[in-house]
Amino acid sequence: MTGDFTQLRLAGVSRRFGTHTALDELNLTIAGGEFVALLGPSGCGKSTALNCLAGLLPLTGGGIWLDDRRIDGLPPEQRGFGMVFQNYALFPHLSVRDNIAFGLRMRRVGRAELARRTDEALRLVQLTDQAGKYPGQLSGGQQQRVAIARAIVLEPPLVLMDEPLSNLDAKLRLEMRMEIRRLHQTLGLTTVYVTHDQEEALSLADRLVVLRDGTVQQVGTPEEVYAQPANRYVAGFMGYRNLLRLGVVEGTETGVVVEGHGVRLTGTNRDGLREGQAVAAIRPEDFVVGDAAGNSAEVVVEIVEYHGRELSVSARLPGGEPVYFRTDKRLSSGDSVRISVPAERVLVFAP
Ligand code: ATP
Repeated sequence: MTGDFTQLRLAGVSRRFGTHTALDELNLTIAGGEFVALLGPSGCGKSTALNCLAGLLPLTGGGIWLDDRRIDGLPPEQRGFGMVFQNYALFPHLSVRDNIAFGLRMRRVGRAELARRTDEALRLVQLTDQAGKYPGQLSGGQQQRVAIARAIVLEPPLVLMDEPLSNLDAKLRLEMRMEIRRLHQTLGLTTVYVTHDQEEALSLADRLVVLRDGTVQQVGTPEEVYAQPANRYVAGFMGYRNLLRLGVVEGTETGVVVEGHGVRLTGTNRDGLREGQAVAAIRPEDFVVGDAAGNSAEVVVEIVEYHGRELSVSARLPGGEPVYFRTDKRLSSGDSVRISVPAERVLVFAP
């Protein structure tokens, strides 16, 4: 079953648990060599999608094709995919080398080739020096690298990763993230990666699939999803922390003026609104202190968090609504300041 493929196609892939639909008609074509991240909050159906791909969970609808072969009826071992999950479940009584070589032994790979491929995998994850140690003697990040090596040593057509970095501390997570990216660039293995962390998804993947309640909200490159979120839900997930409910004053094809909470904003009319209620999505980092950027409002600073170069500020609009922004200016609780944001950085969606 292993070997290269041109495309992996999920067509209407669905999974119900009783009356609950965990995954609703997922349509997605993944090109060979691509790195795709499934992104969404807890319970959105990402692990269900991954388990359906792995063959750990039967579909209740739809099908999965690897080029022209239908594979959703095959058991996991016949799909031959590599898997890296949250709890890496290494064999505690086997050395690092033997953990990595285990799958090759099971496949009765010859001794010389087994040694060659195991060495290569050890080198790729930079664990050659630790090959003789046991999992209990390794750090979390090292264990995670063993789990990755164990998956890639089999040269699987597809690698599935389910929140592989979630058990690591912040520093290690950043290191491993880069490691995974580097491995993908080196080996070009097709990868499907599940995470709830938008930053992780943006930095790793060629394409993101944003899920909510089992349905796809948006599929796109990191740039597309970050700069052009399809709806207010994706915007909220992509760091548009300000989601202000406002009323539409006037709207055209492209632009819209909205008003409420004592402010009036001009923005991009993402849903062609002409009247009624709207949600204006703005990133904290798109505000500037002062009125240079266009749309402006006088706000009262409430909470200031120190973030090294910048402050993260929580303030109140004239109408009392909270607003979040970032600045390198020294501000304190109780200060009254004018902040502004350019119209092109205000995305206005239907509520
Ligand atoms: P998390 O990040 O918390 O793992 P997720 O996005 O991976 O979340 P899934 O594990 O795919 O979410 O679950 C999607 C939905 O399906 C949830 O509402 C969950 O409660 C439900 N679900 C998952 N597995 C089962 C099961 N075996 N039986 C019943 N419901 C299930």
